[in-house]
Formats: sequence, structure tokens, C-alpha cells
Amino acid sequence: MNVLVLGPQGAGKGTQAARIAVDFEIPHVSTGDMFRAAIAAGTALGRRVEPILSAGELVPDALTVELIRERLAEPDAGAGFVLDGFPRTLSQADALDEMLDQIDRSLDMVLFFDLPDDVAIERLAGRAAEEGRADDEPEAIARRLAIYHEQTEPVVEHYRATGLLVPLHAERTVDEVYAEISDAIAQLEARHA
Ligand code: ADP
Repeated sequence: MNVLVLGPQGAGKGTQAARIAVDFEIPHVSTGDMFRAAIAAGTALGRRVEPILSAGELVPDALTVELIRERLAEPDAGAGFVLDGFPRTLSQADALDEMLDQIDRSLDMVLFFDLPDDVAIERLAGRAAEEGRADDEPEAIARRLAIYHEQTEPVVEHYRATGLLVPLHAERTVDEVYAEISDAIAQLEARHA
């Protein structure tokens, strides 16, 4: 099963993606986690992207696309993947479509976590207090949400046009949202059965 999770910051994508990964035994591929791991490990990639993440800006497409290309080529992704935080721009979406085409694979569904900005901001402020992520400072939060509306919303429309988009009510509790996801996956499996 090849799944994408899309939606604004604070919508709960990471939490739900991790749960799907465990239940379906597929890797949770999060570009944000990969960049943060590189920063923590002090690699060349980490040093390059650290100031970008702190400012809430986007890492250049070429770098991000390469990271994903390598990650999806790893053996564990053969069974599928749940992709979180990528694609975030139309050019990344085009690159992903092309990448999957080349390896003769396709997406099964795109989960869209819909959440109003005021709720997103409130949730991120809470996360900032708990986790102390550098990009959960108010200025970086505002920047990330602005970039989301400008660059990532067109990606949502791109996938809506393919018919793969599954809109979710991201304001509900973690369990309620996961129940919606489980239903969507069950429907998908019934169609393929
Ligand atoms: P959030 O969705 O809360 O912003 P993520 O963990 O998904 O958090 O991403 C953190 C940061 O990592 C982003 O603000 C950006 O700097 C970088 N990043 C993650 N994914 C991408 C991507 N697909 N393209 C460019 N930059 C990315």
C-alpha cells in the first residue's frame, strides 16, 4: 500500500502516519524526521538544512527529491510506504509521479487532513511548549503556514483531480481520525479484492 498524508502543520499527519505504518508494516517516511535526524547527526546534509528548518523555509526541491528517491529505493519500501511531508510543492509532486512511474508503482490513496489555521496555530503552540522544536516559534509557524497555503495547497488540488484524495476531519481526536482512515483503507481493500 502506497499512501500519502497531506495537510497543514499541526493537523496530526505524523501521528496518524506512524500508526498506519505499524498496522500495515510499511515504513513511515517523513522528510521532516529525516532532516531532523541529519541535523542531530551533524552530517553535511544536516549542516546544510539546519538554518532552513529553523526559519520555517522549504529545503530546495532538488535536495528533497533526491532524499526521497534514495529512501523509496530501499528494500523495506518494497512493501509500500506512508509518505509524510512530501510532496510539498507541485514540482515535488511531479517528481514523485515520475519516480513511481519509473519503478512501475502508483499511489493508492492520499489522505488529506483538513484543519483551519487558528486550530493549527493553537496546536503548534502546544507542541512548542512540549517538544521545543526550533521551528515551532511563532515566526517560523506563521512562515510554514504561509508556505503551506502558497505551495502545498496546489498539491492537494493536484491529487484531488486524480480521484485519490480522501478528506478527513482533522479537528477530531486521534482515535476518531484513525477510525476514518481505517474505513477508507477497508474500502480501498474491498475494491481491490
Ligand atoms: P511541519 O509539517 O510541521 O512543518 P515537518 O517535520 O514536515 O514539519 O517539516 C519540517 C521542516 O522540514 C519544514 O519546515 C521544511 O523546512 C523541511 N521539509 C520537510 N519536508 C520538506 C519538503 N518536502 N520539501 C522541502 N522542505 C521540507
